Amino acid sequence: MKLTIIGCSGSFPGPNSPSSCYLLEAEGFRMLLDFGNGALGALQRHIGLYDVDAICLSHLHADHCLDMCPYHVVRTYSPQGPQPRVPVYAPADAPQRLSSAYAMPDEPRLETAFDFIGLTPRVFEVGPFEVTAALVNHPVETYGFRVSYGGRSVAYSGDTGESAELVKLAAGADVLLCEASFLDKPDLPHDLHLNGRQAAEHAARADVGTLVLTHLVPWNDCGQILEDASRGGFGGRTELARSGATYDLG
Ligand SMILES: [Zn+2]
Ligand SMILES: [Zn+2]
Repeated sequence: MKLTIIGCSGSFPGPNSPSSCYLLEAEGFRMLLDFGNGALGALQRHIGLYDVDAICLSHLHADHCLDMCPYHVVRTYSPQGPQPRVPVYAPADAPQRLSSAYAMPDEPRLETAFDFIGLTPRVFEVGPFEVTAALVNHPVETYGFRVSYGGRSVAYSGDTGESAELVKLAAGADVLLCEASFLDKPDLPHDLHLNGRQAAEHAARADVGTLVLTHLVPWNDCGQILEDASRGGFGGRTELARSGATYDLG
């Protein structure tokens, strides 16, 4: 299984990264976790335009799903003819919400390009992957994911405040992609996002191999996020997500 970080910028794209999007590949099968704004451009540096086999959307905030709209154009109006529909695992109101974002009529919405499957907290198979979805702690319906293949696992926090579910989901994972949207300051809002220290605390409790701090908001100092993480009691490798970085998981 290979993980490529396509986009790791939090809340809006930054100068060096699109919004959230992660590519997982195994046995030639390619799956995206989230498809935030700007990701479709950077994705083409790594795979062909039509090479996406499945998509999982953690939630329907714009920075995690908006490039579903231009990707609908890619698959529906390709000069090579319409492309097969891609299964999209997403909160149940995704078809209507994304069609509204695109300004599509009610029918056929975006279903010419996508086969939407409503998420619930469960384990399911997608191509060669076993995917676990769990509800995390954000103001809208939001899922964290764990993707396993060949005995290795990548866990992804989605957007979340402190979450016991995330610790369970990530238990023993090789890599935890954990959001660190905030700097560690007093009086942060609860149940919204994590800071670097809290991300590291989650990584320590879940006993993961590598912590990758992501959803990095461009106005924050990344050095400060790493320093915050160093106070979280996690003894494993800790690094900042970077668009284009790859992780080879056996
Ligand atoms: Zn976000
Ligand atoms: Zn969000």
